[in-house]
Amino acid sequence: MTTILNADLHCHSVVSDGTLTPEELAARASANGVELWALTDHDEIGGVQRAALAAKAHGLKFLTGVEISVTFIGQTVHIVGLGFDADNNQLHEGLRRTRGGRKERAMEMSDGLAQVGISGAYEGALKFVGNPELISRTHFARFLVESGVCKETNEVFRKFLTEGKPGFVPHRWATLKDAVTWITEAGGMAVIAHPARYKFTPNEEFALFNEFKNHGGQGVEVVTGSHSAAEYLVYAETAKEFGLAASRGSDFHSPGESHTELGSLPLLPGQLTPVWEALAGRIQ
Ligand code: AMP
Ligand code: MN
Ligand code: MN
Ligand code: MN
Repeated sequence: MTTILNADLHCHSVVSDGTLTPEELAARASANGVELWALTDHDEIGGVQRAALAAKAHGLKFLTGVEISVTFIGQTVHIVGLGFDADNNQLHEGLRRTRGGRKERAMEMSDGLAQVGISGAYEGALKFVGNPELISRTHFARFLVESGVCKETNEVFRKFLTEGKPGFVPHRWATLKDAVTWITEAGGMAVIAHPARYKFTPNEEFALFNEFKNHGGQGVEVVTGSHSAAEYLVYAETAKEFGLAASRGSDFHSPGESHTELGSLPLLPGQLTPVWEALAGRIQ
């Protein structure tokens, strides 16, 4: 299949930290001209079957998807999985373990915010949660915007929810090896999500790509809502250098909150192998 395809292989529903249902996302993707779609909720595939059915109803080609939280050299890295068997037991069990501990972390985040005068943040964030197991920083950000502490979610992350700020609590997620193994052994392709977002040194970034490849990872997001146009070119080169297939996805979470709309990104640069080529047999 050609790189000239309006594929959007990264977005979130109410099953994790998005605000639309899988059905609403399928309708929106279809209305926006998306030709191949994947729902990639954080650490959870509970919305995938609904998404597949809704995609079918809209005549939209579909790949199963997930975005797994991983800890690598002290930072959180996201690994997208595409085209796996959604009934795979090892994948289900791994994701269940990865989700564990979010409640405890959220309560610690709330304690940290209370120390700077923001009370009731855990309960406040819970009001925005579709799936309590998946309570995330995004839900705290929505609460702090609603309560007028900040104007927009980005400002909340900058002032309260990133390393060194009062509401930040580090968490130990899955290992890189486990996440890649769960995805590939379930018949899918592992893809490094939005690589420009991480704050690695060049050596650390090399280690990430190198280890990812050695564990069986096959793809990298090149065109994503988290990258600038210059970063598309940087990671197009990285994809070629490491022999990785390239992916494209908006990382859409919510209308009015996400800067990138479903299906609205530039197409993949030419001369890259798109992830949907190797995944052709897994498209529903
Ligand atoms: P968590 O899994 O609880 O650590 O939350 C991570 C989520 O926070 C990501 O998936 C994004 O949706 C969101 N996020 C991270 N950084 C930012 C930011 N600077 N602005 C807005 N949302 C962010
Ligand atoms: Mn998110
Ligand atoms: Mn991510
Ligand atoms: Mn995402």
